[in-house]
Amino acid sequence: VFAAAAAHAKYTANVARGVNRLSSAILASGKGSYVETTEGKRLLDFTSGIGVTCLGHAHPKVSEAAAKQCMTLVHGQCSIAHHAPGLELIDRLLPLMPDASLDTFFFSSTGAEAVENAMKLARAATGKQNIIVMRGGYHGRSVGTMALTTSKTVYSAGFFPLMPGVYPTTFPYWHQMGLPVDTPPAELAQKALFDLSLILSQQSSGKDTAAIIIEPVLGEGGYVPVSPEYMRGLREVCDKHGILLICDEVQSGFLRTGKYFATEYSGVRPDIMVMAKGIANGFPLSAIASRRELMDKQSPGSVGGTYAGNAVACAAAVAVADAFKEERILENVQARSRQLFDSLNTLRSNPYVLDVRGAGLMVATEFASPTPPAGDIFVNAQAPKSMASRVSARCLEKGMLLLTTSVFETVRFIPPLNISEQEMAEGCSIFKEAVEEVVK
Ligand code: PMP
Repeated sequence: VFAAAAAHAKYTANVARGVNRLSSAILASGKGSYVETTEGKRLLDFTSGIGVTCLGHAHPKVSEAAAKQCMTLVHGQCSIAHHAPGLELIDRLLPLMPDASLDTFFFSSTGAEAVENAMKLARAATGKQNIIVMRGGYHGRSVGTMALTTSKTVYSAGFFPLMPGVYPTTFPYWHQMGLPVDTPPAELAQKALFDLSLILSQQSSGKDTAAIIIEPVLGEGGYVPVSPEYMRGLREVCDKHGILLICDEVQSGFLRTGKYFATEYSGVRPDIMVMAKGIANGFPLSAIASRRELMDKQSPGSVGGTYAGNAVACAAAVAVADAFKEERILENVQARSRQLFDSLNTLRSNPYVLDVRGAGLMVATEFASPTPPAGDIFVNAQAPKSMASRVSARCLEKGMLLLTTSVFETVRFIPPLNISEQEMAEGCSIFKEAVEEVVK
């Protein structure tokens, strides 16, 4: 183990600068809702490694299943053969899909890769090229997904030209639309659908548009759940023009929002669903699910990947799916979500707290931006001393990891789905203290 000072020196000298880190902590271990640093500091983890460790760190059954698989078969390459945990995982996933038509899977390792595969599938299945994306969406950092990502310029700055054929439309999020926080969802949906109709009539017609991709809860863009009205409108537009609807549930999937998948809130059927993060509690695994008929349009050999659907990751994912049921995780998400909202809602009287929103344990608090200088009409993107990052920094000092998100002043809560009542109370009280100290 590195002494703390040596470790800091090492990562200053030898680790890429392009990564933006919430803390300078060096993690030595993690158990349940806590991680511990090499200096012996315990931190309450309200980030779950950005929504990945949904059953907490080192969940005994998941780690045990992975360890067992490590002693049996570590790598069974997808272009060479199937393997047992991969097939077992399909059996676990099938009943969880929001629609029975999503019966065919292709596994990969990261969220971005799965989004790339969704895009390739949409193009292969429709014979069309263009993709409509939601303004504020995040789909990854690879060269293809970076073009679909519009949540912040930092993800693409310096990396142009981006992949062509991508058209951003309005996501129904009041702040991004320049509307008041209490704008009714139906009005937001109507305005956003109007914008989509303009894209289709002015920029990329239905004849050229392969897919529309949406996060049913806008993730890095601010933890904004989409309204059922908008999702239903989107489905109608897709059906009318023969466009495929891709739901990117990389962050919102696997019980995170109080349903297995957030698309269930609207009852809308995706044509392609993208999954990752919570699927395997920290093991690198992602997937797309779609209809047999669409997947059959891809020529053999056109998709693959050395580590795609790794056997250890699949074994972990099987254990995750079993633990969800055995440990009644859904009930816990519902109870802890109520507890979190009850606590955050008491902050609404604070004039700096603009909005408390989200679903399940994917929840955000948005603060009012500091008053911009007179005449400044621009969004204060990532101001270094922003409210949200000051609150997050205070939480860290007090022993809790809490992420910010969006170009607005937003912090996001993504604790483990099996967090206890007491741990949630601890997190809420740290957060409230931090807010009071920052805005006193
Ligand atoms: N889609 C969404 C909705 C995400 O939240 C993320 C990751 N934050 C990605 C795609 C990309 O996943 P990865 O970082 O595993 O490539």
